[in-house]
Amino acid sequence: MQYDLLICDGEIVDPGGGLNGRMDIGIAGGKIAAVAPALPRQEARATLSAKGRFVTPGLVDVHAHIFVNASDMGANTDRFCGAGGVTTVCDAGSAGSANFAGLRFVVEQAVRTRTRAFVNLSAIGITATSRCGELAHFPYADPEGCARTIAENRDLAIGVKLRYGPGIVWEYTTEPVKLARRAADMAGGVPMMVHITDTPLPLPEILACMKPGDIITHCFHGREHGIMGPQKEMVLKEVVEAQRHGIIFNCAHGRGGHFNFPLIEKALDQGFLPDTISTDMTFTTATGGPVWDLTTTMSKLLHFGVPLDEVVRRATATPAKILGLDGVVGTLRPGANADVAILELRDGDWELRDTDGNAIRAKRRLFAERVLKDGRVRYDRQSG
Ligand SMILES: [Zn+2]
Repeated sequence: MQYDLLICDGEIVDPGGGLNGRMDIGIAGGKIAAVAPALPRQEARATLSAKGRFVTPGLVDVHAHIFVNASDMGANTDRFCGAGGVTTVCDAGSAGSANFAGLRFVVEQAVRTRTRAFVNLSAIGITATSRCGELAHFPYADPEGCARTIAENRDLAIGVKLRYGPGIVWEYTTEPVKLARRAADMAGGVPMMVHITDTPLPLPEILACMKPGDIITHCFHGREHGIMGPQKEMVLKEVVEAQRHGIIFNCAHGRGGHFNFPLIEKALDQGFLPDTISTDMTFTTATGGPVWDLTTTMSKLLHFGVPLDEVVRRATATPAKILGLDGVVGTLRPGANADVAILELRDGDWELRDTDGNAIRAKRRLFAERVLKDGRVRYDRQSG
């Protein structure tokens, strides 16, 4: 027997791997062994029909929160990820130098989804931010500790996180960004991810401190100082230029004004597409919306006319590269880990919301039907 499992007759969508069309996937030893139009059924111990379904690489959510009992998805990370087709998740700065060991404990004890994490520039990470921003007091900024934490946790920690917003940082200059830059450089040139919703500083000033490979997150917020100028008419030329130079624009959904439909429509009309799509998922947004899961965020972009393969690329190959997992996950090419999402694009009529009270009626919505990690089914919609 050549294969442990054969996924048959699915419509493959793997923009990163350049695979497209009706094909079978042969899985052996937890890896993708073959992808071809008709693999021999008799060579497989088991088969799984994906007829009428799209088969994509297991989705990669580059911005979510999994630090249980801190600011997180609670104890349901695997279930929420599975329901959204996600096999690899990245915690975006829930922990800093003082509590990263706690995040590692959670990852090792309670999460089976493949995990990576950004380390917060603030030593305390994102803990009680409804009361006080994690960098509202300067002494919490800890570039040395952040860099050291990354160096000591290279299997898990992939970069620096900074949330720049009103009440979050101690001063409204580029100083906080420069300290994050220093931490990223000290850690050996890792990426930094900067949250920009409603920043008191114009975005070009933040972009000036960033390098190719760094990430702007919440790029579709509709508050002050976003990707558009003050009148919110045109995408800023500095933004277009930064994206061309390799700065990554991530549309993490989340809540609290991070994801605004009118702005999304305008930006897409002008040809601005985000580089990655992610959820910024926490327990509240997964159970009460408006995020629900990654496939729902993807469905919102489909509604606004982004083609399916472009949506899939932004939730597979591109985020996989950011996490240093290029070719390992985020693709179905032979040799990659057998992380696979079997997705249904269902016709219907759903009211989907942004974070500012706007609603759309989506006529198509993506649902994860089955999700495999390392060749094993980890989520099945039938059994939940
Ligand atoms: Zn977040």
